Amino acid sequence: MKRRRVALFGSTGSIGRSTLDVIKRMPDRFELACLAARSSGDAVLAQARAVGASSVVLTDWQAYERARGARGVRLGFGLDALIAEARNADVVVMAMSGTMGVLPVLAALESGHRVCLATKEILVSFGQHVMAAARRHRAPVLPIDSELSAIHQCLAGRTGQVERVFLTASGGPFWKNGAPARTTPAQALNHPTWRMGAKITVDSATLMNKGLEVIETCRLFGLSPDRVEAVIHPQSAVHALVEFKDGSVLAQLAHPDMRLPIQYALTWPERLPSPVRPLRPDRLGSLEFAPIDAKRFPCFALARKALAMGQAGTCVLNAANEVAVRSFLARRVAYGDIARVVARTLAAWRRLHPGPVRAGVSRLLEIEAWAAACAARVTGHERKP
Ligand code: MG
Repeated sequence: MKRRRVALFGSTGSIGRSTLDVIKRMPDRFELACLAARSSGDAVLAQARAVGASSVVLTDWQAYERARGARGVRLGFGLDALIAEARNADVVVMAMSGTMGVLPVLAALESGHRVCLATKEILVSFGQHVMAAARRHRAPVLPIDSELSAIHQCLAGRTGQVERVFLTASGGPFWKNGAPARTTPAQALNHPTWRMGAKITVDSATLMNKGLEVIETCRLFGLSPDRVEAVIHPQSAVHALVEFKDGSVLAQLAHPDMRLPIQYALTWPERLPSPVRPLRPDRLGSLEFAPIDAKRFPCFALARKALAMGQAGTCVLNAANEVAVRSFLARRVAYGDIARVVARTLAAWRRLHPGPVRAGVSRLLEIEAWAAACAARVTGHERKP
């Protein structure tokens, strides 16, 4: 069997490291052709040496300058290098945070390559364009996300027969009692079931993460917003449920371990043995499900509102949330300000563009920059925590 050449973008983050672990176990199927990171030069070079990747890309100029002269690898810089590597590989795993990955993803799809997509922002802000490219070039987009992977597994391509999809949310640390009055970053980062990066962990506490996944689900599977719901499920054993037209509901269960969706995305439609601990139904205990209280989680409601505004609306939502969460983590705004900053930025966009906006990728990148600047301005006006 010919080994498939993988370009792993974002190899030093948590998804990237898990992907290396998954690929290491399947040496007869995959080889790592390229690793990319933003600024962790030493770490990505060490990874490349360990897995035998021949090229490395850094997207931070200073990190690139420092790494220059490293032996044994071809070192590339920035977006152009990512695009070239995306065209070269057979499979692209996109796990870099932010929307820098959208052009490399489009390049991979235009070359007919499989894209395994962990970066939420890409579907949220550019999903219509990404999926149109995937259809045009018959290139598969496989989600690296436990809930979206669960839907993919239950759907098995039967999108037209779906009545409703339910994503599950652990509820984060504040589901039961709400967020404390002066929530600190440390409290928001204390996630009950998953260990992830700081930004997504805060998004899990506010449930913005679930809102973003509702948007991603609509884009990835071509479902209308009224068919996509979310429920709280604190045990994180059931990752999604899909209700078909006949009333039958299929669910996907697994231990919360990202290596499973990563392996599924790489090997689909095949299923192979994995390092994930088998799930014993007799040891699961009771499984709870509860509705999401929109008052307690205003960010979830804002995501639905943005979804109704179309692609430009979700692009604004994502950029504003990014700024708001970074400001919260830097203790420049309070926890409760995250939703306020996002709401005010969405309202400012609405005032400028009351009707639907049709925008290509380059216009969406401009909209994103406008929303980030607007959110930063709004953030500056919020009182210090
Ligand atoms: Mg998820």
